[in-house]
Amino acid sequence: MAKPLLRSLVPEEIAPAVGELGGEAYRARQVAGWLHVHDALQWDEMRNVPRPLRAALAERFDLQALTPVERQESSDGTRKFLFRLRDGQTVESVIIPMESHSTFCLSTQVGCAMACRFCATARGGLVRNLEAGEILEQITHLRRDLAAAPISGHGDRQFNVVFMGMGEPLDNWDALPTVLRIMMDDDGLAMSKRRIQVSTSGPGEGLRRLVAAAPGVGLTLSLGGTTDEERRRLMPVPGRTPLAEVIELGARYARQSARRTTIAWVLIAGKTDQPEQARRLAKLAGSGPFKVNLIPLNVLDDDAQEPSGPAAVLAFQEILTRAGIDTTVRLSGGRDIAAACGQLRRRRLAST
Ligand code: SF4
Repeated sequence: MAKPLLRSLVPEEIAPAVGELGGEAYRARQVAGWLHVHDALQWDEMRNVPRPLRAALAERFDLQALTPVERQESSDGTRKFLFRLRDGQTVESVIIPMESHSTFCLSTQVGCAMACRFCATARGGLVRNLEAGEILEQITHLRRDLAAAPISGHGDRQFNVVFMGMGEPLDNWDALPTVLRIMMDDDGLAMSKRRIQVSTSGPGEGLRRLVAAAPGVGLTLSLGGTTDEERRRLMPVPGRTPLAEVIELGARYARQSARRTTIAWVLIAGKTDQPEQARRLAKLAGSGPFKVNLIPLNVLDDDAQEPSGPAAVLAFQEILTRAGIDTTVRLSGGRDIAAACGQLRRRRLAST
């Protein structure tokens, strides 16, 4: 059986763990620094931690859970990674270069149980949840990659995180609150909540938990439909929660975190780009503190569904904008490297 991951421990848990192994109190901070500031993946990288303490920690914990197996770089600068986990499963992460910083897109599960019709990850169902340390270690690898190959113009180590990779983050409530705590803790990654975005398909139970926990990070809700029936057709599992409740929870979360909730809308030619859908979406988005992000579908290799063309995207956006809804269009990067979440993993599974 694999040992527990040291990176899964919240900062207050590191001190007793180090103390039990005979380390002085200040060593806990050093160890946390190696995990979350210096991105250590090998015990001997922890240079100022005494060798016996490193050995004792290594007896009890694993430091590395992810092995990089593939790295692809798109012509637009998007970098995509496939990692093998200790049990042989694989997950993907992406670095998306923005104007002044990078955005890290992280996975939270191996596979996903939500069965969304436009998603490659959905195809194999849920395999398992990732542990907190497995989610956080994706950041470690992505930062190491950026340190080795910096993106010009980005300058420092500033990055944003979106939980928009494989899996439904709110369906992994075992790990997500711990991950968010470590990301925002001063002795963890010390990230501002403004730099973190949870992107969800909106399963009711998960949304209710998020609203109750109120972590203050950004929320993106993928709706998939402007009526309950439409939503159920495209997103069968999250669609079990009535749209009215999803919108109400999204609005409540936005008010409590003083930050508008983003409604993500995937544009599929002939299916989700109709003018009446735009009008209904405008009504839903106008009912609370929302903005809208339109995302033309990422084409899957075995699917007949097509993204909406530029004219349909513009027409859809115009209806929303005319209704006073703040609407942006996101052209997803890395099309030439299969950057839609789950595609790299599927290709590898198909070739083995
Ligand atoms: S879109 Fe997200 S929630 Fe839906 S199946 Fe894919 S990974 Fe899961």
